[in-house]
Amino acid sequence: MSTLVIRGGRAWDGLADASIETNIAIDGDRIEACGTDLGGGRSLDISGCTVIPGLIEGHAHLCFDATPAWRATFDSDTPGRMLLRMAANSRRMLEAGITTVRDLGAPTPPSIELRDAIATGLLEGPRLLVSGAPITTTGGHCWFMGGECDGELGIRKAVRERVKAGVDWIKVMATGGNMTPRTNTFAPQFTGGELRACIEEAHRLRRRVTAHAHGIEGIRVAVEAGVDGIEHCSFTTPEGYDHDSGLIQRVADAGILVSPTVSIGYRRWPDDGRREQRAAILRDQLARGSRMLMSTDCGIPGVPHEALAQAMDVFAEATAISPVEMLRLATSRSASLLGLKDLGVIVPGAFADLLVVAGDPTAALADLERVRYVIRSGRVVYANPE
Ligand SMILES: [Zn+2]
Repeated sequence: MSTLVIRGGRAWDGLADASIETNIAIDGDRIEACGTDLGGGRSLDISGCTVIPGLIEGHAHLCFDATPAWRATFDSDTPGRMLLRMAANSRRMLEAGITTVRDLGAPTPPSIELRDAIATGLLEGPRLLVSGAPITTTGGHCWFMGGECDGELGIRKAVRERVKAGVDWIKVMATGGNMTPRTNTFAPQFTGGELRACIEEAHRLRRRVTAHAHGIEGIRVAVEAGVDGIEHCSFTTPEGYDHDSGLIQRVADAGILVSPTVSIGYRRWPDDGRREQRAAILRDQLARGSRMLMSTDCGIPGVPHEALAQAMDVFAEATAISPVEMLRLATSRSASLLGLKDLGVIVPGAFADLLVVAGDPTAALADLERVRYVIRSGRVVYANPE
């Protein structure tokens, strides 16, 4: 017998072109059946609401506090307080309907501790995939997280250390970044040889590598080295953007995951033409068949952890994709690209990680912010009924 039946509302399965009126039966941590005639179990009445698969955030920093003073907070955190901060931020994401999070940069020990605490039921939170400390050069982007290394031997050792610690993904900083003074956002950090050694070692140990890359030369070096994913992939130059359709096509043809890190921060940019340049690159990436997932880089200044729904609104507006296409990107598509089996869809046998919102986000994305219930592994972990 089902343990919970969600009744009286609409459902969107993560794949279809529209939501339908249906009930969903949950048994334990999985979806048992979908249909209008489901008996047994406790009922959750969601009249006037729509249930969709829980959202997936492809690029988070649980250790950052999303304020302009982020670095002072980071530097003054004790290990214990950092772990608590990461737990609190992950809980905030869960309550926004984000049931899976890939954390692509935090000190390694608390990343592993938190992921495992949630996985074993010690804490309530989203499912976590973690990279631990990003691999970077001496003084390179985000060196303060503890991931500096140099040379082909050094980078191999860095990969081995992370896999030994238990990370899910290898994150490597292929270019500098704006948040780290004295780095160069527009130029490669590692040599092609170093990156190839990193990727070879990670693949030997059955881990995928995703590279932080803004500038075009950093993207090119990462593609040539055979990276599995590119974070940002923004084609940034000191003046704006270098829209290189040839390289965009090459990234798509190589099957490399593109994690665009679009956020509400975009709406605060000055209206000097750069927003449209960035939007044109995103549209081109989609049109050329990029394997795009949804990500926001939450935790960085001005990008709260729970702001994925708003970022989806920004992304949909910039790329002119429909609400349903946007929802697919943040559910079924992100799940399949990240290799998350039985997630991102509502089908019998899938994990019951669900978000219930008032209204219908397949018609109006803004309804994603009207969270009523969040269900994780079949349990109602957040309730905000009207
Ligand atoms: Zn980031």
